[in-house]
Amino acid sequence: MSEIINGKEVARALRESLAARVVELDKKYGRTPNLVVILVGDDPGSVSYVTGKAKAATEIGIRNTTIRRPDTITQDELLELIAELNADDDVDGILVQLPLPKHINEHYVIQAIAPEKDVDAFHPNNVGHMWLREPMLIPCTPKGIIKLLKESGTELSGKEVVVVGRSNIVGQPVAKLLLNENATVTVAHSRTANLGEVTRRADVLVVAIGKERFITADMIKPGAVVIDVGVNRDSRTGKLCGDVDFEEAQHVASKITPVPGGVGPMTIACLMENTVECFENRVNKR
Ligand code: NDP
Repeated sequence: MSEIINGKEVARALRESLAARVVELDKKYGRTPNLVVILVGDDPGSVSYVTGKAKAATEIGIRNTTIRRPDTITQDELLELIAELNADDDVDGILVQLPLPKHINEHYVIQAIAPEKDVDAFHPNNVGHMWLREPMLIPCTPKGIIKLLKESGTELSGKEVVVVGRSNIVGQPVAKLLLNENATVTVAHSRTANLGEVTRRADVLVVAIGKERFITADMIKPGAVVIDVGVNRDSRTGKLCGDVDFEEAQHVASKITPVPGGVGPMTIACLMENTVECFENRVNKR
């Protein structure tokens, strides 16, 4: 049986250390980090993510506001709101919850956020800095995955790592961070031929595709470390499940993250860390 990598525990420890850091920042600068989240529309998934983020921020002592706008908001109105927040010296972090309604171009919105307040690290400047290995901010889910691997004592240097999925927010950035850790990285995607052959090479397998229980036990090398990023509704039980068939995979992998309770909590904790980092970078610039 594999060891379960407990993302909840690792995330809790990170949040505790952030809470202590915020107390120190308050003593030193007389204010605490301030995060503003913009939520457009009332998609239940987005509402639940935003609620989770606000709760985590409050627990850590990060001031936070959620600005809600109807899904009829125009792109210009949204850009104007972001411009106001960019100009507000008391705001350290800005997050626009994605996805946005179809009539709004996400790229324009992401590019409108001041890079030094871009807690998601999706702005092209932050993406560029990351690829040049001179990071200002690291996107939350990839950052959380690297922290989980390190906390679980997983060796990365010289190891064969396969990332399944090549999205801008998970697959590609995590592949780059793993490369920075001196792993030998393969990125697989929907056009990859013989996917099972590729995934079976992996000492560390990171899966971010969004398909319930897609990675079966026979696609995993015995003893591999498996990180399951997927968040899906199980069509049988209606509960949350990952992209990996956890029940079977836990008999093959040496270590594995559960869903829920693996990568998800780390993403939120890393968002909080990015908010604290934005605050620190901004006060240090003055
Ligand atoms: P995207 O839909 O943006 O990307 C999915 C990727 O998976 C694409 O690169 C796609 O390939 C690849 N893919 C799809 N089908 C297959 C297949 N049959 N074989 C191999 N590759 C395939 O998803 P995201 O990266 O945004 O998210 C992935 C999952 O992670 C989702 O379940 C999402 O909910 C979850 N997630 C979880 C987070 C957390 O904090 N736990 C945070 C972010 C996401 P191609 O490029 O060729 O289309």
